[in-house]
Amino acid sequence: MIPSPVWHPFTQHALEAPMKRIVATEGAYLFDEDGNRFLDAISSWWVITHGHRHPGIMAAIREATEAYDQIIFAEFTHEPAEALAAGLLDFAPPGLQHVFYSDSGSTAVEVAIKMALGTFYNRAVARDRIVVMEHGYHGDTIGTMSAGERGVFNAPFEPLLFGVDRLPFPEPGCEQETLDAFQAICCSGRVAAILVEPLVLGAGGMKFYSSAILAALKDIAGRHGCLFIADEVMTGWGRTGTRFACEQAGVTPDILCTSKGLTGGALPLAATLCTGEIFEAHLSYDRRKTFFHSSSYTANPIACAAAVANLQVWRDEPVEARIVELAAQHTQHLQRFDNDKRFANVRQCGTIAALDLAVPSGGYLAEVGPRMRRMFRERGMLLRPLGNVIYLMPPYCTSAGDIAAAYEAIDEVVSLVLEETAS
Ligand SMILES: *Cc1c(COP(=O)(O)O)cnc(C)c1O
Repeated sequence: MIPSPVWHPFTQHALEAPMKRIVATEGAYLFDEDGNRFLDAISSWWVITHGHRHPGIMAAIREATEAYDQIIFAEFTHEPAEALAAGLLDFAPPGLQHVFYSDSGSTAVEVAIKMALGTFYNRAVARDRIVVMEHGYHGDTIGTMSAGERGVFNAPFEPLLFGVDRLPFPEPGCEQETLDAFQAICCSGRVAAILVEPLVLGAGGMKFYSSAILAALKDIAGRHGCLFIADEVMTGWGRTGTRFACEQAGVTPDILCTSKGLTGGALPLAATLCTGEIFEAHLSYDRRKTFFHSSSYTANPIACAAAVANLQVWRDEPVEARIVELAAQHTQHLQRFDNDKRFANVRQCGTIAALDLAVPSGGYLAEVGPRMRRMFRERGMLLRPLGNVIYLMPPYCTSAGDIAAAYEAIDEVVSLVLEETAS
């Protein structure tokens, strides 16, 4: 067989077997060329919300292709983008007034950072620092890597990454340290914005913190005139139990980034929502105050139509009830691991469940990760532990039987892996 020229993301090709081709998707499943079925227990990297190929979303895509392809988004607008903007502002926490489109989570966050800096620049106020949280992840571009946790993933690019101020993660019992650190940094008067993943730090290891801390951070930001950016790229669209995670803290951020579940996961699209204040800071007879950002595929009409259809699914179908039911199933299954010596830190936030495998060498590169992945795949499960952190983030259509099977597989695979490590 001729080796494939395809270079896959986050893949060490020297260590991985050639990949199987997926030939179809449906609901919670992926089907490969050999007729194997896999439960997509991580929603294809957190993008699929309702399930693969939701009929309403696929129909909207087909219909949009009858009228549109890509259309320049300076000079003209189009109905899917207009309908989506109105629908998004209705769906998001109250008080956001403008929608800027891009095409990935990383670009949504880049746009947010640029909006924040542009706001103070245009006001001739010297604020240019960005505050982030330890273990954060905001994307893989140079700007978003700068804001994210530094480590093996970005070591080669370190010389290019810009400096940010980092708050310690609010570990249980030490939350006040995080708030005090933020307060102290704010007193410099140089902070333009704080950028955080609300409630759940995803790629950083499914680390959870409370809505009270989120609300307190927003409060400190507000008192110091520092903008609050919520990176809801993963947490949005129901993952944490509410439409957006910020809702649980009663917080409306100044800037909100959304992408992954925006089209239900069917097509790439992103949006950065902001307050009137931020838009108005860029509104001027002086052209130099324009917000200078664009991606070629900004507001792709077909992707926007998919997102409009996704909003319709939220209106027409009992999505909230499915989320409640899925969360209840996690709660029930997680109980059996609660006093289990094999695990530490058994936790849940809405539809996301996570547990740490109690092994001495943790971290993303932990050898147990790839071993577990292979064993899960052999059992028809797509699960990708983040190092020793095993997590489930299934689409909302996943059946109770499939959830039970996923927990069964975790139980079995973990026992096997621990036996291997012991011997
Ligand atoms: C995935 C993710 C991103 C980056 O999104 P891409 O579409 O992969 O660029 C940014 N922020 C968070 C919180 C994410 O989970």
